[in-house]
Amino acid sequence: MTENNAKMAGSAGAAADVSDLDRRYSFHPFTMLAEHERSGPPLVISRGSGVHLEDVTGRRFIDAMAGLWCVNVGYGRDELANAMRDQAATLSYCHAFSSMASDMPAVLSARLIEMAPSAASSPMSKVFFGNSGSDANDTQVKLVWYYNNVLGRPQKKKIIARSRGYHGVTVMSAGMTGLPGLHAGFDLPLPHILHTTAPHRLWEGHGMSDEAFTAKLVDDLEQLIAREGADTIGAMIMEPVMGAGGVIVPPRGYYAAIQDVLARHDILLIADEVICGFGRLGHMFGCDALDIRPDLITVAKGLTSAYYPLSGCIVSEPVWETIVKGGEHYGAFGHGYTYTAHPIAAATALANLDLIASENMVERAGAMGAYLHERLADAFDDHPLVGEIRGFGLIGAVEFVARRDTPRAFDPALKVAPRIVAAMIERGVISRALPNADTIAFSPPFIIGKREIDAVVHAARDAADSVMQDLE
Ligand code: PLP
Repeated sequence: MTENNAKMAGSAGAAADVSDLDRRYSFHPFTMLAEHERSGPPLVISRGSGVHLEDVTGRRFIDAMAGLWCVNVGYGRDELANAMRDQAATLSYCHAFSSMASDMPAVLSARLIEMAPSAASSPMSKVFFGNSGSDANDTQVKLVWYYNNVLGRPQKKKIIARSRGYHGVTVMSAGMTGLPGLHAGFDLPLPHILHTTAPHRLWEGHGMSDEAFTAKLVDDLEQLIAREGADTIGAMIMEPVMGAGGVIVPPRGYYAAIQDVLARHDILLIADEVICGFGRLGHMFGCDALDIRPDLITVAKGLTSAYYPLSGCIVSEPVWETIVKGGEHYGAFGHGYTYTAHPIAAATALANLDLIASENMVERAGAMGAYLHERLADAFDDHPLVGEIRGFGLIGAVEFVARRDTPRAFDPALKVAPRIVAAMIERGVISRALPNADTIAFSPPFIIGKREIDAVVHAARDAADSVMQDLE
């Protein structure tokens, strides 16, 4: 930071100024813009260490969301800061166009292929790097289109996603995202995108057994494919456990059944591992945890623990071979970013993967996740307005409803979940209200301890009780 910037951001007296600068000049994502322009940010964060964030006035918070489900190794790790600084000093940039290579991305590609979940029949083969989960999912769509063009099936282009799925905000990714708030006002989704039912038991399968609910979801998918024609559908994209759409864990048997359907209709499977990848579920990948064998895998967030932007599309051998053949028709593969295979991003990812391995963080995420779910159950099982407590590994959610027996949602105008999250901030914990329901989420850094989980759950219950009292 320059001396001038540090002066503006750093001193306690400047806190109000920084907040006002933000109010006047920053264009925030996923924000009520008029309200922000009126009131400014509720928090201005200036430091992070371990599971804690600190704001410009010196207040400390437990970050129970690891940022946006991404700072998995926690804040302020020297190992990552040093890797970034060393790489910036050694080779700050190198492009990857026209066969140009640099060392760190090559090493990272090999490591990702070695660790990626693979089916024996279609092992993972290559990695294409991008900058965000959104652009990586857009790339996946282009790969599916290119693949089917090379195979002489130009009509096999539609992509099936799921309602409530979250795949990002670029033009195709926002369309695949199954949340109406990302489509409104943007003329999305574009043609080529279809949505099938979310495996969300509370609203789609209340009271059903796993078998019955899976059968219903498979039937919905089969009907969609029959209506559209399998020869028009190129791929289906799925998060192993849905994140932003509500932390939704499908019923037992779901992925095996869905993969049977896709295989029968020659539809590729894209696993969006942007949240689940690199340990969040207590397994290295969500696909390992839930026995998914994809053709294409999207990674981002936990790949660098968000110390540096980086995403990847991991491509299986059969898809790769077909794409390579495309060169005969189309020439050089015409896609890529200035920052594809950025050496600082790759060095950061390698240091992050080393840290995850050396501190057994995947196992730790599983163990802390089990404790989180125990504590959430203790705190919320008896709550009259809790519709469902969900989760897997170190990701969890509590969904609040106006009526529990035959679930009925609250009037969205009451903003129940956002009010609970605001009340949690007053109690020193940062959580997140998810869109399209009154759900609060938990996705802390893997290094969180039991005492901190106790504090998070206590703040959540206390905040929920105070909001519920106000509603009476
Ligand atoms: N896919 C999933 C599952 C995500 O959760 C997200 C972001 O939250 C994305 C894709 C988009 O990633 P990004 O925000 O880096 O574009």
